[in-house]
Amino acid sequence: MREKVILVCSECLSRNYNTTKNKSISKERLELNKYCPRCDKHTIHKESK
Ligand SMILES: [Zn+2]
Repeated sequence: MREKVILVCSECLSRNYNTTKNKSISKERLELNKYCPRCDKHTIHKESK
């Protein structure tokens, strides 16, 4: 089963990315370094609830 997650910029909190994850494999919350258009740079994006 894949679960929809939203990736939120840790600096400006804008919701920049939608993705899915396999809950049975990745139980930890995702943290990815991705480009944020609002910050105009790469920031850590965290999984939103
Ligand atoms: Zn940002």
